[in-house]
Amino acid sequence: MTPMPSSEEPSGETDPTPPIPVGVSLAWDGTLVVALAVYFFFVHSFTRGLLGDLGFTAGVAIKGIVVMIVLAGFILWVAPITDLPRIIWQHRLPERRLARGECPRCGQRQSPDTARCPECGGRPVRPPRWELSARPFFRFAVLTAAGIAIGGGIAEGRISSDEGAFLAEVAANPDRSHDRHRVWPADFARLQSDPDRGLQATGVIESPQEAGWRPGPARR
Ligand SMILES: [Zn+2]
Repeated sequence: MTPMPSSEEPSGETDPTPPIPVGVSLAWDGTLVVALAVYFFFVHSFTRGLLGDLGFTAGVAIKGIVVMIVLAGFILWVAPITDLPRIIWQHRLPERRLARGECPRCGQRQSPDTARCPECGGRPVRPPRWELSARPFFRFAVLTAAGIAIGGGIAEGRISSDEGAFLAEVAANPDRSHDRHRVWPADFARLQSDPDRGLQATGVIESPQEAGWRPGPARR
């Protein structure tokens, strides 16, 4: 393979960017999905506890999705870290190699006047600087969708099975009151049942109001 003289336009195959190792890429994406799944596990658990609804109805699903989208917006600023392997392998690594007198793409030692690396055909030029683009935000959206599916799914599974267990407890003893807290981490909210009033889930957003209570002027 004989590289053409260096007066040629740089072609894509001689860009001084080493490939990102597939394992690194997968490990980084996997780490981010796990972190996002943990985040959305807590988001959905807290949402279900706060809503004070019993059962995964269409209304609960819609509210849950709205909350997740809003809270995904809160962490949008971390989107650039999805590009970390690219920053390290395709910007920092070639720059360091170039500074050491090595081929930026393959790391082969080069004499200062080499136009093209005899090993890989790469040119000894600095890689372009990393710039924020739409790509990390798109990757973040994909990883967030996976995190929501995994974390939200696990949270909903726990909450639903806890509600099912509560309904079974009530059905086994319908004549007495039942009152216990929800499964962790929604254990700040309670599941209640009463022979007179029926099933209730007390949240914070839609907690049952005291009969006869009216908003009055604030007193000091
Ligand atoms: Zn090379």
